[in-house]
Amino acid sequence: MVCNAENNSKNNPPKPLFVGSDVYRQAAFGAHHPLSIIRVSGVVDVCRMLNWFEPGQYRDSPRASEAELCKFHDPEYVAAVRAADASGRVDRAVRDRFRIGTMENPLFPGLFRRATTAVGGSILAAELALQGQVVFHPSGGTHHGRADRASGFCYFNDPVFALLTLLEAGLERVLYVDLDAHHGDGVQDAFSEDERVLTVSVHEEKRWPYSGLIDDRGAGSARNLPVPRGFNDSELDFLVEHAVMPLGRAFGPEALVITCGADPLEGDPLSRLSLSNVALWRAVETLIAQWPRTVVLGGGGYNPWTVVRCWSGLWGRLGGQRIPQRLPSEVSAFMQGLESDLIDEDEVPSAWLTTLADPPNRGPVRPQVERLPGLVLH
Ligand SMILES: [Zn+2]
Repeated sequence: MVCNAENNSKNNPPKPLFVGSDVYRQAAFGAHHPLSIIRVSGVVDVCRMLNWFEPGQYRDSPRASEAELCKFHDPEYVAAVRAADASGRVDRAVRDRFRIGTMENPLFPGLFRRATTAVGGSILAAELALQGQVVFHPSGGTHHGRADRASGFCYFNDPVFALLTLLEAGLERVLYVDLDAHHGDGVQDAFSEDERVLTVSVHEEKRWPYSGLIDDRGAGSARNLPVPRGFNDSELDFLVEHAVMPLGRAFGPEALVITCGADPLEGDPLSRLSLSNVALWRAVETLIAQWPRTVVLGGGGYNPWTVVRCWSGLWGRLGGQRIPQRLPSEVSAFMQGLESDLIDEDEVPSAWLTTLADPPNRGPVRPQVERLPGLVLH
């Protein structure tokens, strides 16, 4: 068998890499939390069943050290998360100050290990991307994390670390594109005054965290595209072509970080956008075709079927695999075994169990979407 993972010729760009860890197989967040479902471990299992990892493509994620974490996070906050995990408790003052041990950002066994692994994975992904290739780290994308507190299910902010790693390597312009259904507020605010980073976020309007309005440009290096309920494939294609790509080309980035949350998909229980997974894959591919030095992160996504299908299919597409029309029975059986408190069993269409690619959800580009490029480009 010929292994072409090391092939760097122009006609054969290097194969993409996948950063993962078995730490994501451990139960986390506690029962009934929206993130207690199977997500990234399911992606790895499905991609293994489909033989979508060539030798050397799967890289094990290291953990970030406390010294690394403190390049962005407040040392007292880092110490508080470590201590809470070690003791298994959070007192009221710590909870109020750092927002850990709450319903939103619960304390659970292994929290510190898991959160530091997500950061370590994004640092590794950025280091590998610097070599000129696409690196997929679906456990990343904790874009709401703040320097001094947890927010929106995010303890640390791994996309910030992917960006910092690229900047520390000497890059002077890095583009961050956030396709999650929620505004990438933590990343925007981290780099709002840094001219080396442009953040562009496409997210559902009037949804938590309620920031990222159309005229919000941070301190100059942010652009926001808030979109209405029912956002469809044609509307995403339109915004990528007429807003995201022109903004990127004008900025001229040397590398790219994408947060590709799976929560803008039809069927996600925490948002009301209606994309097919094929539209998200296409958006990522369009960006990568222009800027191949890219870290692709995961993000939100609260329906285990749509999350696992979306990110498995994305990895397949990044690696040039053919997406099967119908899943092998082994994969279908795996899909059948997924569970969610937020989705009724009767609401699971058979296509979620037997296919990876959604049918396209084309539709009209509504006037509200059509006017957005003009408002962010000038
Ligand atoms: Zn989200």
